[in-house]
Amino acid sequence: MTESFSVPAATIPCENCSAPTQPGQAFCGACGYPQSGTEDQKNRFRDSIRIKKVLVAETQKETRTAKTIIFVFAGLYFCLGLFHGFVADDFPTMIVELFICLLFLVLGAWSSKNPFGAILTAFFIYLTFQIVEVFIDPTSLFKGIIVKIFIIGAFVKGIRSAMEAQKYIKELEKMKAVRTDE
Ligand SMILES: [Zn+2]
Repeated sequence: MTESFSVPAATIPCENCSAPTQPGQAFCGACGYPQSGTEDQKNRFRDSIRIKKVLVAETQKETRTAKTIIFVFAGLYFCLGLFHGFVADDFPTMIVELFICLLFLVLGAWSSKNPFGAILTAFFIYLTFQIVEVFIDPTSLFKGIIVKIFIIGAFVKGIRSAMEAQKYIKELEKMKAVRTDE
């Protein structure tokens, strides 16, 4: 009875993730590596990891514009805050603008860890500001419309690319090949 609980005598470590596998087992139970497959199948598994790593790097690169915009907003609200505080003597507005500056700084810092969450949050804040502005002054909708379209486009692209990167990272996690160099 107790014998069924004993550890199998001879397991061999998976060549990809080092998890113990049974000799003759077709695929590693932990990562899916074709342990008993042909050299060609093994190479295909390794190539798939390499390709996914390249895709992660590329899709993460595509979030760069959106991340930059978040920092530009932080800088912009910082300047506005200084202007209202020290030139216009409007301290309440300065406090609000410096707070918004801080908010974008935090989102910018967070965007390197979680691009999807940070860019999405920044996008919603930006849209909220735009909607409030249009409610206060409907003619403001068309002010700087080209810049607004550029910003919205960059945010949407950033969110989409961050989602794609996340998908590849999840697949790499399943293959026990998550990048440690970030
Ligand atoms: Zn494995």
